[in-house]
Amino acid sequence: MIFTDLDGTLLDYETYEWKAALPALTRCRETHVPVIPLSSKTRAEMEILRRRLGLSGPFASENGGGVFLPKGLFPQPPQGAVDAKALPPFKNHPIRPDGPDTSNWWEIPLGVPYAYLVEVLREMREAMGYPVKGFSDMGIEEISERTGLPEEDAYLARLREYDEPFIVPDDGSGALSSLVKSAEEKGLKVTQGGRFYHLQGKNDKGEAAKRILALYRARYGDIRSVALGDSHNDFSMLQEADFPVLVRSEQEFPSLMDKIPGLTITPASGPAGWNWAVSRLLRQNEEVIT
Ligand SMILES: [Mg+2]
Repeated sequence: MIFTDLDGTLLDYETYEWKAALPALTRCRETHVPVIPLSSKTRAEMEILRRRLGLSGPFASENGGGVFLPKGLFPQPPQGAVDAKALPPFKNHPIRPDGPDTSNWWEIPLGVPYAYLVEVLREMREAMGYPVKGFSDMGIEEISERTGLPEEDAYLARLREYDEPFIVPDDGSGALSSLVKSAEEKGLKVTQGGRFYHLQGKNDKGEAAKRILALYRARYGDIRSVALGDSHNDFSMLQEADFPVLVRSEQEFPSLMDKIPGLTITPASGPAGWNWAVSRLLRQNEEVIT
């Protein structure tokens, strides 16, 4: 099975397109290799994206804050799972005008509730006086500008449950390191994604991948896992996988090869890199999956 980050990995960093990954993605569908997205995106965004991508399995939102399992696939609630909470309506979204499909999901909540994260970020800003700005301080328009998402998708990006993305000036004032320290004192952590820093609980994509993998192994026996990501918040997930893949981006991670043995780095970035790595792994494992 394949665990994958979305932005900058399966989706192009700028355009959010995935056309270049279609050959491998189609091959996964044909050979029943589950593709499980683990992203810092919200549940609302991911529910829409997985439909567009033609995926039908579980996913994890907001850096592993929520693990969502389709009830069709897991008729009994897996350990630690509860009925997924209701989300607000999607405001006539073109893809899903009727709103989120909440009734069909189990959720394993691994993250810290959003309201608490927003409160802590505000307290830290007041205490330190740094110009920190979170999603909760931005309107839909600003989120749309900063992410390049159309406004109807920026609305979904703002329906957060476990993670507050924020920006902080990287001007040598030490703002970021003070925030990191202060978050740690409160039992939280700061992670770095492709576009934003994130204030979140101790959850990570690695733990989410581990939970999903355990459920699949309990049901199907031995399973080999692939994980693909392009930035810091993906490394815990890469560490869990039998075949870790770093999808090339503008950032370089020189010591990552030492930390993650067997790491493959793709020659191309984004969905083209994804396609290259997944096609190659599917070919190598063909005797197992056909
Ligand atoms: Mg990414």
